Amino acid sequence: MNPCLWIGVILVSSLCIVSCARKKNKETAPSYGCNSNCGCTNPNSICGCTNDLSNIPASYKTAITKYTNANTNYSLHVCTQDSDSDGSPDYMVVESSNRPEHKSHYFETTHALYELFDFLTNLYKYAATKTSAGYSGAPGPAGHNKIAEQFIVMKMPISPDNASSKTNTTYSTIGLALNGVSFFNENAAPGDQITNELFTFDQCSGHPQNSGVYHYHVDPVCLIRDLGGSVTDNSTTVNGTTYRWIEDSGSNGNLLLGFLLDGHPVYGPVGDNHTDSNGNATPSIDSYNGHFHATTEFSSGTYHYHVKTANIGGTSSSVFWITNEKYFGTPGSVRIY
Ligand SMILES: [Zn+2]
Ligand SMILES: [Zn+2]
Repeated sequence: MNPCLWIGVILVSSLCIVSCARKKNKETAPSYGCNSNCGCTNPNSICGCTNDLSNIPASYKTAITKYTNANTNYSLHVCTQDSDSDGSPDYMVVESSNRPEHKSHYFETTHALYELFDFLTNLYKYAATKTSAGYSGAPGPAGHNKIAEQFIVMKMPISPDNASSKTNTTYSTIGLALNGVSFFNENAAPGDQITNELFTFDQCSGHPQNSGVYHYHVDPVCLIRDLGGSVTDNSTTVNGTTYRWIEDSGSNGNLLLGFLLDGHPVYGPVGDNHTDSNGNATPSIDSYNGHFHATTEFSSGTYHYHVKTANIGGTSSSVFWITNEKYFGTPGSVRIY
């Protein structure tokens, strides 16, 4: 056959393969999440499909590297951006599909990480909050929301600061945990109460919002377990049914969990007091849920947030919020594609 004809045949058949695949994707893709251009091939990706830590500040390298290996199922990418092209990087960039490595009731039932959860468990897991907040609802899942793949690009300032004018956090992604899952603040979106939303959290204390963005408002107990932190199994038996849940042991104050948009790290929950990585007493937590001292990843000390015991429910509450209204530093930006 004429070589030109061969090329024609190859072209036509590859076009068919592309269009058939596209059609199939369209039919099976969720109605929310990133329906196309998911992952590091997204044209908006800054890192592309590689990790480049060469321009990450030396003091941040150990901590930022943890983004590249904490999630055993879905990879994240980390790099820097010189947004004003002046030859020096301005942002540390983390790119994530926002899917956890742990099981969830909120994966599609056909997903390998789907696991059934009895939401009545939350009545006992969050018993202190239930009492103090006067919750009298019937716990159940967050509507029909399911975890959907996203493409999230988080940009953190390369030199995190103590902002002279503090910025409010928002009702969306305010940071990323080391497994790439979004951190949300201590509030539900207007119209909802977080003290009611608690009862829609899955076995790992997360839930997806209405476009499938899975997130943690509180202590992410399964991530803590997966990072090698200390958790305990708790259970109660009511009318012959045993409800089991994972609980934070209360000794994860030195465990790095992720970063907020301002570039300051988030560590595990503490009360008002804990010791630093050298065993020394630390300054008390400020009104942004943070303070400055040496940590395992930042031996010279760094400002950092702690997931902190909530005021609601008092000190016996098992609820821990990640933030308190405002960022300590100047936030970078986040885009969800
Ligand atoms: Zn939420
Ligand atoms: Zn601390």
